[in-house]
Amino acid sequence: MSDYISLNIEVTDNCNLNCSMCDQAISGGLPHGNEKGYISKDTWNKILDSLEGFDKEIHISAFWLGEPLMHPEFESLIRTAFERNHKNHLFRDLKIHTNGVLLSEKRTDAILDCASMQGLSPDTFTFLHCSIEAVKPETYKLIKGGDFLEIVKANLLHFLDMRAKRKLSFPKLTVAFIVTEENREEARDFLETWSRVFKKRGLEFQVTGDWPPKLMDTIYFRRLNSSDQEAADMLHQEVLSRLNITSGRIEESF
Ligand code: SF4
Repeated sequence: MSDYISLNIEVTDNCNLNCSMCDQAISGGLPHGNEKGYISKDTWNKILDSLEGFDKEIHISAFWLGEPLMHPEFESLIRTAFERNHKNHLFRDLKIHTNGVLLSEKRTDAILDCASMQGLSPDTFTFLHCSIEAVKPETYKLIKGGDFLEIVKANLLHFLDMRAKRKLSFPKLTVAFIVTEENREEARDFLETWSRVFKKRGLEFQVTGDWPPKLMDTIYFRRLNSSDQEAADMLHQEVLSRLNITSGRIEESF
């Protein structure tokens, strides 16, 4: 039995992209099969109330089948959660998966304000996971259904620079590349591009083909979940071999 509790809180099932591998696209835009929405502040607060008194650590993922940064009150939701979490009595950590399109300066500020809040463990805002899938804008558009690659990259660079400016180590950043037929030839370029980003900033990071083994900045070549899983696994393995990620995970540090 697990000695902690993982809790996914879907702040919205809306998304501003339409990635070909996602339930958003596969379901025709209705991942839950009914009307989409946003969590209310009241429900968010009730969930936080309900975390009082557990004898196990609570690990929150503030997303599920949508893009959390689309929530119009995203900043307020996370600020409330962190302000109420004195001494981590409600949750041990919180993480977000995002496509990064709406990671504006204002939202980055809110995230870093939460990450630097006093009275909490410094790794409470554990990581941001951003799935990018491409180096070329046309590949990005083909896979993700929007023309936002340069915006995403600029947002993530700003996030890294602001994190450094505030002398924070968290949240860690994962840049992910789900391996598909459409992007397989860009995998090396993706590795080199994001390696340069991390190296230029003197950041320790890992490169992995499996769920990130350590809590650190990460370049993650992810296996596609597919109806033809055998083919997707072979393609993933072929890319990992080509990039010399022989055991599924390697690390670089400085
Ligand atoms: S950004 Fe995320 S939630 Fe939105 S379509 Fe892509 S994978 Fe799905």
